[in-house]
Amino acid sequence: MLKCDAVTELVTDYAEGALPFGARLGVRLHLMMCAMCRRYLDQVAKTRRLLRGRPLAPPPPGMEDRVLARLARGDGPGE
Ligand SMILES: [Zn+2]
Repeated sequence: MLKCDAVTELVTDYAEGALPFGARLGVRLHLMMCAMCRRYLDQVAKTRRLLRGRPLAPPPPGMEDRVLARLARGDGPGE
């Protein structure tokens, strides 16, 4: 059976339905036995609900031009 630390790493993907069948089953079995991880999953699910539908903050003014200029020069990432 999965241990709590493994479940906490998988729980976000579990909440998003992004786990393959075997991993999903393992998480589900663990959650049936572990109240602590059920609480953690509940917090992750609540956070996802709160963030859903919120628009991303717009980039700072001029950022798009700076990024495009760097790409045109062939610069790599970083400052
Ligand atoms: Zn657990």
